[in-house]
Amino acid sequence: MSETDNEEYHQKEFEIKYEKMNELFPNLLCSPDVEDYDRLDEVLVSSDSATIYDEPDHFCYDGLHESMKMDHTNIIHIENEKDKFITYRDFYNAMQKWKQPMCDHRFLEGIHVDKYSNTIAVDFGS
Ligand SMILES: [Zn+2]
Repeated sequence: MSETDNEEYHQKEFEIKYEKMNELFPNLLCSPDVEDYDRLDEVLVSSDSATIYDEPDHFCYDGLHESMKMDHTNIIHIENEKDKFITYRDFYNAMQKWKQPMCDHRFLEGIHVDKYSNTIAVDFGS
């Protein structure tokens, strides 16, 4: 494959995954990491419950009153059936409850799992 063919191939593959993520999680207000499409059934947290949180700590919130910040903090609980570990699919299903931020930081860039507290911190970029 030539360099350009290769690029086109990757572009196409990206678009297909993007479409599929949109079909599976139609109510996501953030842009998912499309590569997660390949690991939807992999375990993300080795627990049947977890808490996702998004701390509005980017510069857009500088100078905002704490109560305003709290207003834009997303805290989402995931409760699976007993002993059913949380997968990326469970994570994205839960993320459909994520509220729209007041800024353009809505591209999911990081999923950080703390295996001791079963929390999932999410990072957003623009
Ligand atoms: Zn922001």
